[in-house]
Amino acid sequence: MSSFWAQKAIDFEPTMKVWEEIFFKIPELGFKEVLTRKKVLELAHTFNLKITQDYGINGFSITIGEGYPHIGLMAEMDALVVPDHPNASEIDHAAHACGHHLQTVILLSTLSLYDKYRNRSLKGSVTFYFVAAEEYVDLQYRRSLKEKGSIKLFSGKQNLILEEAFKDIDVILSCHTMGKTSHPMIELNSKLSGFIHKTITFNGKSSHAAVAPHLGVNALNAMVLTQNAIALLRETFQEKDMIRVHLMNSLGGQSINAVPSKTILEGYVRSINPESLKRVNEAIDQAAIHCSQALGATCDIHDEPGYLPLIQSESLNEVLRPHALELVSQEGILDHQAGFASGDIGDVSLFIPTIQFGFSGCKGLVHGSDFYMDKSQEALVNPVILYLESIDDLLSNPVKVVEIKKSFVPTMNLVEYKKLHHID
Ligand SMILES: [Zn+2]
Repeated sequence: MSSFWAQKAIDFEPTMKVWEEIFFKIPELGFKEVLTRKKVLELAHTFNLKITQDYGINGFSITIGEGYPHIGLMAEMDALVVPDHPNASEIDHAAHACGHHLQTVILLSTLSLYDKYRNRSLKGSVTFYFVAAEEYVDLQYRRSLKEKGSIKLFSGKQNLILEEAFKDIDVILSCHTMGKTSHPMIELNSKLSGFIHKTITFNGKSSHAAVAPHLGVNALNAMVLTQNAIALLRETFQEKDMIRVHLMNSLGGQSINAVPSKTILEGYVRSINPESLKRVNEAIDQAAIHCSQALGATCDIHDEPGYLPLIQSESLNEVLRPHALELVSQEGILDHQAGFASGDIGDVSLFIPTIQFGFSGCKGLVHGSDFYMDKSQEALVNPVILYLESIDDLLSNPVKVVEIKKSFVPTMNLVEYKKLHHID
């Protein structure tokens, strides 16, 4: 490996490892990334870099250079709740079990190296986005932020879309850990599912469970019948659509000696295909409504659109491919995988040519209590090289950027996005 950027990244590896330890030890849940933000800015300041755009609790960005092409690079900053992770915080039991702290270090390192060693004869600009709240968790807190007007939607990128933070960006590059792999790998063109967060409240009528059950309407029975109907619907799910319906009973009744008058079924409906997501969600609504009616109960259905499926720009991934091949060779490239997981990068991919490459070098289970960085070469150095070499390719070939944009078909515009989320 002999490229200019590869050498710079390798030389920077000891610093990256120190930063990895720092950020791994300050895990914070979404919209609470106070220490993380402070530390990123403190470290950026040592390189004389300052915030260009502040998005408050949604994050911030730093821009280098000016004009077009304008490339966006993005890191997530938040942790998730894993109480039994050895590094879990006292507040919220937050831990970096999804490796978002690696993204923070990768972006900060890319930013530092790019600022110092970039080819100043190349025209164009790069904006580095440090974004809050990717994990869809801690919803009670987020609802309180919504009520106060501090956020409009539950994730950082979703709010940045509403703020039109990516309006001037031509293409967006991001990355995410692949978890544990048997050999060094880079993943290109992977798909993520979209999901709807669904809450069904079943309403019945309370009565004495032993003396007068005939005078009550059992909301728990309505829920059980609905769950059975959903189970029977599963034979209509097509494998290619990668549908998951995972629900839990978050309220089972009020008192053990009374017929339950209110129960709640809550969870996600997921699919990789936006159309089938809509169709399955409607079928579940019908099942809930009619199963409730069959037993004399009623139900209220509340849907919150979660994240939309990630559809990556294939032509933008092709810019990364030769550099990825150089780093991990053909046997290390994982191409066109589809996953059940979801991420708010999916929402971004509807508007702008977007990629999220995967990198190896971690051990343990993603979202598990044994998740750690294992090999810094794979989890830090390789992604930084990939970013820096791709930036150079894109800035030195503006026609390529125009072609990537031309081949991109937006799935949605901002008006439709707001409509989906019931935002005026
Ligand atoms: Zn993640």
